[in-house]
Order: sequence, then structure tokens, then C-alpha cells
Amino acid sequence: KTKIVEFAEKNQWGTAKITYRLRDWLISRQRYWGCPIPVIHCPKCGIVPVPHADLPVILPEDVELTGRGASPLAQKDSWVNISCPKCGSAAKRETDTMDTFIDSSWYFLRFADARNDQEIGDRNSINNWLPVDQYVGGVEHAILHLLYSRFVTKVLRDRGLLDFNEPFTRLLTQGMVQGLTYMNPNKSGKDKWVPSALVDPKDPKDPKTGEPLQALFATMSKSKGNGVSPVEAIAKYGADTLRMFALFKAPPEKDLEWEDADVEGQQRFLNRVWRLVSSFAEIKQSGISDKIDRNLRRAIHIAIKEISEDFDGGYQLNTAISELMKLSNALQDTEDKSSATFQEGIETLLTLLAPFAPHIAEELWSLIGHIESIHSQSWLTYDPDALTVDEITLVIQINGKVRGSLQVPSSASNDKQALEEYARSSSAAKRYLEGKEIKKVIAVPQKLVNFVVG
Ligand SMILES: [Zn+2]
Repeated sequence: KTKIVEFAEKNQWGTAKITYRLRDWLISRQRYWGCPIPVIHCPKCGIVPVPHADLPVILPEDVELTGRGASPLAQKDSWVNISCPKCGSAAKRETDTMDTFIDSSWYFLRFADARNDQEIGDRNSINNWLPVDQYVGGVEHAILHLLYSRFVTKVLRDRGLLDFNEPFTRLLTQGMVQGLTYMNPNKSGKDKWVPSALVDPKDPKDPKTGEPLQALFATMSKSKGNGVSPVEAIAKYGADTLRMFALFKAPPEKDLEWEDADVEGQQRFLNRVWRLVSSFAEIKQSGISDKIDRNLRRAIHIAIKEISEDFDGGYQLNTAISELMKLSNALQDTEDKSSATFQEGIETLLTLLAPFAPHIAEELWSLIGHIESIHSQSWLTYDPDALTVDEITLVIQINGKVRGSLQVPSSASNDKQALEEYARSSSAAKRYLEGKEIKKVIAVPQKLVNFVVG
């Protein structure tokens, strides 16, 4: 396609163009539940708009919904019959209501000024808050709803009511949850699906025939009987665990497979965090030293940097949770759990965890002595200095000639024996010392190790 367009443009007989297959949209519905169409039908004047002073048209609440005939409103004579606002003759209200797609095409404008009872919203407020920075929705809305929203936005813009051209700046279409599904390969049609509730996962058999079943993952649906009840799952694992699971299992735009083992994995992680922070809360009572642990501090600020970037970029929240796990492990492995850096680490872990597991983070935040909610804390910024590795370059010499170098922790830079051990493990030393007799080793603190060989 690209090549055809290039060819057409090169030969000047055509250009690329987007064609929208727009068709007329019938917006009236024979439903009770919908926005009233503010119109009165008069036998003399024809179609007359409801006067401004009489807006909004309020739907009657005592309507009988029978599911038969025309719009339920048409059966409500006391509401339908009205005098014409123009000539006063007996007239009738419009009884169809608007398609819900009408409302969903502009509801986001309303959020900017939701209490305004005169208009959609104050245009300054709307122009101030919109367009929407990040829209999250199912891919099933990618065509109609999003196109209608753009359409309505552009109409309002052309009428001078909005300053922006597009309603949404970024779109994220989230994936769906797939459930463990059992299928009897010997059956066909809808009969082949066996509800998960009737199957023993360790020995999947058709409860009717005893035939072995195939297990697969498929989009949850009633006909397949492979759904998971969110209410039951929350009761069993807690809402925080389920949030962590759903965010960790796959990037947000991908489908994710519901697997109990992975849900339990997140529950174990949150339990580890719980124990880590609880034991710190006890340590804290006997006092925190002002010691700085440079290695731990580096792990802390790497986590802040990585997780902030995961939020700012493509919402790679699964990798953000991996970073939380790394920080939690680094804290767990730290020997001195009463240092100022350890406290910084615990508070950072909770602050970064808060968007993912808001309830547990809040509870633990208060457990370590904070009065104000963790959710009103500022997001953290990383300290670039903390990210630098504390290392020196150790030069390797053989008989006074430079043969290589390696990075060693600066903490070892004054320890001659440690420097010699690092030097012996270097690839340069291994290469040049093989089969040779080392007569003498000269280690110069902060700088070099020289091997004298025969
Ligand atoms: Zn009239």
C-alpha cells in the first residue's frame, strides 16, 4: 500500500487520503432510559423546540415498563399531552429518547464543571482541563464511541465553544482477562465447553462421560463457564493482591491469563512486605542510627527512577512491580536494619507500592508512625548522585607493564590484600600469569597491583 502511494505521488496522479465511512446516524430510540429529545409536535406549527425556560425536560418517574408497543413514555398521557409553546393548541411531546452514544460522546467535558446547571460546562474550565491526557478503555470502543466523541468535539470547536481539536491525547486499550477453560474434544458446538466449577484441575474429566478434557485459556464468558467472580476472589485474596496480580501478569494492553498460582505469588510478596515493615516498626522504637548505606541507597533510588519511568512511559506496570520486588529483596538482605538508609528504603518501598496496593501501603505507613495518609504524599524523585556506583579503577601491571584494569568497590581501595585478590581474579592477570611463578606482588592503595613474575 505504501509503495503504491509513493508511486502515485511520484507520478503525480494521486495522494494518500483517509476515508471515513461515515453514515447518517439515527439518534432516537424507543426507550425510557435516555436523554429526552426537547421537542414538541404541534398539529399547526409542526416541530417546536421546548423553550429555554422550560429546560431541562424531566422524564416522569411513574412509567410502566411493559416491553411492548412504542416508547414507554408514549403511554404516559399526562406527560405526553402539552400545549404548544408557540400557538397554545393541544400538542404532544416527543416520546423517543436519545441513543446513549450521544451522552457518551461528550460526558468527559462535563467533568470539568459538573455542577453547572446552565450549560454543558463553563468554557474556561473545559478549555483549562481538557483535552483528556490519558484515556483508558476497551478496544470495543475504538471505533464508534471514540469517533463520535471526536465528531462532537469538532462540532463544538467549530461553534467556537472549545479551543481544542481532539478530545483525547493518548489512548490505552486494556487487555481482557482470560480464564482456565475446559473443552471436551469429542464434542462439538457449545456442548464441548465444561464449566471449570465442575472439573477437578488435577484430573480434568467430563463429569457426564468421564472423557479426558483439554485445558486452555480463553476470554471469560458464561457459555464457557470459565469466569472468576471478582467478589469471591477479593474475599479470598484481598483487593490489593488482585490489583498486583492483574498489573504484574501482563502489560496493560495485553490479555492476561488468570492463574491462581500467580495470584498466590502476589499474596506471598505482599505478606513478605508486611513482615519486613512490621519488624522495622519494632526496630524503629529502639532508635534509628544516622548511618548511610551507600549500596542500599543506590537500590532505593534505582527503584524510584525505574518505577517513575514505567508510569511516565507506556504504563509498563508489570516491570514496575518487578522493581518493587527487587527493592523489597534488597531491604530484606540488608544486615543493618536500623540505619537511616534502611528507614528511607522502607518509606520509599511503601510510597512506590501505594498506587498498586493502596490498602496495605496505607496500613503499613501508619504502622511506622505516620499520621497523614500515604496517598497524600508527593511522588518521589530520585537522587542522581545515589545512582553512581562507588568504585575505583584498579590498574593491573605485570612486571611494571599495564596489562589491563578492572572496577573494584572503593571500600576495598585501601585494603592491599583485597586489592590483590581482585587483581588475581581479573582476566588480564589470568591471561598473563598462567604457568608463571609470581615472585612478588606490589599493591598500591587506590591505584594498582603489580605482579612481578619470573
Ligand atoms: Zn403550535
